[in-house]
Amino acid sequence: MEKDIDRILFTDRELIERVKELAAQIAACYPDEDTGLILVPILSGSIIFLADLIRHLPMKMKLGLITVSSYAGPTTESTGPSIVMDLKVDICDQHVLIVDDILDTGKTLRFVGDRLAARNPRSIRTAVLLRKPDKAPPDVTADFVGFEIADEFVVGYGLDYDDHYRNLPHIAVLKADCY
Ligand code: 5GP
Ligand code: MG
Repeated sequence: MEKDIDRILFTDRELIERVKELAAQIAACYPDEDTGLILVPILSGSIIFLADLIRHLPMKMKLGLITVSSYAGPTTESTGPSIVMDLKVDICDQHVLIVDDILDTGKTLRFVGDRLAARNPRSIRTAVLLRKPDKAPPDVTADFVGFEIADEFVVGYGLDYDDHYRNLPHIAVLKADCY
């Protein structure tokens, strides 16, 4: 797997340090221990980010899982988001924090955000580990962003190519012949 890597963008150490900073920002935003916060990670890409993030959040929380697919098979071209597994917890009147791996065109966050907003939560905020520049419309934003990256396809730390490379500990760009 490591032999497929062209370039490492962020090492595991850099990632965990930044995730800790994000957790501190998020904790400051929900100072009341009994806020009733529900984290909604968008699976599968956010799993490692989520696992590291929640272990640095001090408040009580619940998780509500939602699985969205944007890429069908071995491609780096998004087909647009569709629901694979829908949210099962009741978010009515609760504070919701959507957690995703990367904000690219914004279609996924718009799609999930609209679906969740229809269930009348008290608030919705969004945390993403990575953001690519200038592709999302101005009204699709993230409240908490780990790193800004260039417009190239990345893998590792939960992010996949054709469902592989999620277990790479760093965020990396693959060699051209691996896509
Ligand atoms: P958007 O809907 O904002 O275009 O893209 C968001 C989703 O597409 C992300 O949740 C992620 O699953 C996937 N995605 C976008 N860019 C990349 C990338 O560079 N690498 C990987 N592995 N997935 C990406
Ligand atoms: Mg995703």
